[in-house]
Amino acid sequence: MSDKTRIIVVDGSAVSRAILTRILQDEVANSEVEMCATGEEVLALLQQGKYDLISTALMLPDMDGLELSRKVRQSRSHSYIPIIVVSGDADSRLLREGFEAGVTDYFDKSQGYKVFGSFVRSFIQRHSGLMGHILFVEDSATAAAMVQKTLERQGLKVTHVTAAEDALALMDKVLAARGCLTDEYDMVITDFYLVGELTGGDLLYAIRAKMHLSQQEMPVLVLTSTEDQHTQVEAFHAGANDFVTKPIIEEVLIARVRSLLLIKHQYNALKNQAEAMRWIAVTDSLTGVRSKRYLVDNGETYINDPSHQPVWAMLIDIDHFKLINDTLGHITGDHVLAELGTTLNETFPDGMVVRFGGEEFCVLMPNTDTEQALERAELLRQQVQALRPADVNITVSIGLASTMDHPGETLTRFLGLADKALYRSKESGRNRVHLFLPQGPTPSPLDNPSLEMNTPEELTRHSRL
Ligand code: GH3
Ligand code: MG
Ligand code: MG
Ligand code: MG
Repeated sequence: MSDKTRIIVVDGSAVSRAILTRILQDEVANSEVEMCATGEEVLALLQQGKYDLISTALMLPDMDGLELSRKVRQSRSHSYIPIIVVSGDADSRLLREGFEAGVTDYFDKSQGYKVFGSFVRSFIQRHSGLMGHILFVEDSATAAAMVQKTLERQGLKVTHVTAAEDALALMDKVLAARGCLTDEYDMVITDFYLVGELTGGDLLYAIRAKMHLSQQEMPVLVLTSTEDQHTQVEAFHAGANDFVTKPIIEEVLIARVRSLLLIKHQYNALKNQAEAMRWIAVTDSLTGVRSKRYLVDNGETYINDPSHQPVWAMLIDIDHFKLINDTLGHITGDHVLAELGTTLNETFPDGMVVRFGGEEFCVLMPNTDTEQALERAELLRQQVQALRPADVNITVSIGLASTMDHPGETLTRFLGLADKALYRSKESGRNRVHLFLPQGPTPSPLDNPSLEMNTPEELTRHSRL
């Protein structure tokens, strides 16, 4: 999907065009509106690009809006596009023929342009409830053609099969390829009696009892005949969300599908929200790295994981950070922390990056030997010195410890060793790297002890403030 919502406004009147365009631009986030005066112009535009919504007047200079709608529906590229008809009055012909012509919704202009804004907002909301991919199981060719056409005219994607066996085989294929069925199909519509051995009831049973998909995750709508009250009850018992009786009335079908898709989309929204919440709980909101909570929950398993050996712990503490807060303010301090967090995430995509304390970070580096650990620590020390986050010169002191030198330690004791090495870096002048070897804290052979630590003058010299 393109990131912009591309809209066509077609109206014979230049004034109406301009007004509608402005309202659409205001109401539809990130939209791009093309204006046309005639139906032919619209059809020409549709040949050239991909659009997401058409708003048309009922009367156009060269054709009427319903005729335009029919032509658009017949086009190969835009047969699904939502079409709004904006008409001067509640035209009875529009009510009668609009649905058949493929008009998605209409707006009565006599309500005023202000109302058009809220109409568009609610249209977009309602319409977004009517997007989705439907797995449709129906063995009657006539019923299948009618239902498929009705659904596709509403902008829905339909995959049609004739037997429950085919539906199950398709689902197996999707599961094998994507690992998830509910991302591909939003709902199932199935006839109850089908050509194969299995009925729609058996398909339902497989979806609910074998695949364990709830009524929210995979709504199922069953098609039954009017007299067949027995199968209607059976369908509900097997876990159907709803049924539609044959002969099918298009409006009823669409209304049922709409409400089931809304359930599905709400379920998706909740699921995404829960995922986002989980992410927030394990991520530090200021710096974007893992939270200490995450380290406490996962760190010990991480350092003892046989596939991670040897693991190096690197503790990083910003030198004289209090000075930054005191001289440049807490907000600048926050910016510095955020930028350092970003840098650490980018520099150690293979490790676990954690905000360990206020201005202290911890990186767990898996599958790293001593030489690599020393090199990466030294590179980071130099990188931070060149970083100038929020236009502030900063330096860091670093302490290292490895599971190779200290096997079988708890997380707390292991990080305690790295902290002792860090303390030695601070003591010996800051902006340095030490590692905790079995014999105790040892300077990294790679760092350069002649480097200056941050002083208040150094900090502010290049600062914006
Ligand atoms: P040293 O070189 O010894 O590490 O000196 P320091 O000033 O960096 O260390 P100290 O531990 O004395 O001070 C750390 C400061 O970090 C104190 C605290 O106010 C500040 N700090 C902690 N968390 C945050 C934060 O989220 N935002 C800001 N702006 N400051 C923070
Ligand atoms: Mg400190
Ligand atoms: Mg510090
Ligand atoms: Mg500190």
